[in-house]
Amino acid sequence: MQIVKQKGGDIRYNTPGVQLIRPGNGRVTGVIGRTAAGDYIQFNARKGVILSTGGYDNNPEMMEKYLRPSDLRIERFSSFSKICTGDGHNMGLANGADMDEPPHCLIVCNGVLKNKSVSPLIFETVSLRVDKNGRRYVNEDLDYCRQANANAIQPGHFNWSIFDSSVDSVAKQLGRTAKEETILVANSIEELAKKMEVAPEVFTATVTRYNELAKNKKDVDFGVDGRKMKFLGKPPYYAAQVRNFALVSVSGLKINEKMQVLDKEGRPIPGLYASGNTSGGFFGDTYPRNVAGISCGRAITFGRIAGKTAAAEKA
Ligand SMILES: Cc1cc2nc3c(=O)[nH]c(=O)nc-3n(C[C@H](O)[C@H](O)[C@H](O)COP(=O)(O)OP(=O)(O)OC[C@H]3O[C@@H](n4cnc5c(N)ncnc54)[C@H](O)[C@@H]3O)c2cc1C
Repeated sequence: MQIVKQKGGDIRYNTPGVQLIRPGNGRVTGVIGRTAAGDYIQFNARKGVILSTGGYDNNPEMMEKYLRPSDLRIERFSSFSKICTGDGHNMGLANGADMDEPPHCLIVCNGVLKNKSVSPLIFETVSLRVDKNGRRYVNEDLDYCRQANANAIQPGHFNWSIFDSSVDSVAKQLGRTAKEETILVANSIEELAKKMEVAPEVFTATVTRYNELAKNKKDVDFGVDGRKMKFLGKPPYYAAQVRNFALVSVSGLKINEKMQVLDKEGRPIPGLYASGNTSGGFFGDTYPRNVAGISCGRAITFGRIAGKTAAAEKA
């Protein structure tokens, strides 16, 4: 911001871009914005327009149109922002841009409780997870997006995350939350099974097997690093009902290596660029959460490339 201002740039808040200007299907020469007062204002672009309006994770119609049905099995539909409604995608599409083919990629996370509060403690702690019938179904050490994929295809689309009281910080937090009825607590595995409404013999067998693997520090069933498995033996026991929630969509308009937006024939639309979550071609069907910072990293790096390319255009 400082650099933009130093160089005479003008930052307008509360003035969303609503329409591109592309006379005669030629070059994109500007964008029309809407002011807070509801007036429209035209910005002429000597060099180009860069669409960087984020994803469309606050646009339910687009979510339904472009995402896998299983991605929509989420407790909370939108991210925290409420501002990314796919405006850049739609401005591009209205001007002949091409878009990533569905299904698109969503950053989806397994880690929200029944009452919709997010619990990093629960989704970041490797502990036994079972489906609604009390059976283990996933490698609990996978990144949260892949766990969310597995969660989405279980009956009821939730899991019970199981903890005992051997880790103080977990027990303390769960003990507090249990009072809010988002987490079940019991003094035995059988009692916990009853509260979870699963067959006690099934759940007991699952815990027995999990404990056997944890004791041997080798998960031959699902491949969790045995050192991370926690033997469940210290009451009280806790079961948290965990569901998926969506962060941001990360697919979008097709671009080339210069971040120029492409039309349906694969040709750059003159004067039009896209970056970050408005742009596409980067992620496949699942966000690779195990590559740290790849979403912010892409937005910053490719945004810079878009800026440099546009700045180098002849005015
Ligand atoms: C809770 C959460 C945690 C995350 N954690 C990580 C993480 O650990 N690592 C990581 O790499 N990524 C993470 N992400 C994802 C990452 O934040 C985003 O992918 C990244 O910010 C995308 O950058 P962007 O510039 O494309 O879009 P955004 O950062 O979403 O910015 C888009 C901007 O466009 C503005 N805008 C929208 N519509 C218009 C319009 N019509 N006109 C003008 N402006 C408009 C919005 O106000 C917004 O300021 C997380 C996301 C969330 C929600």
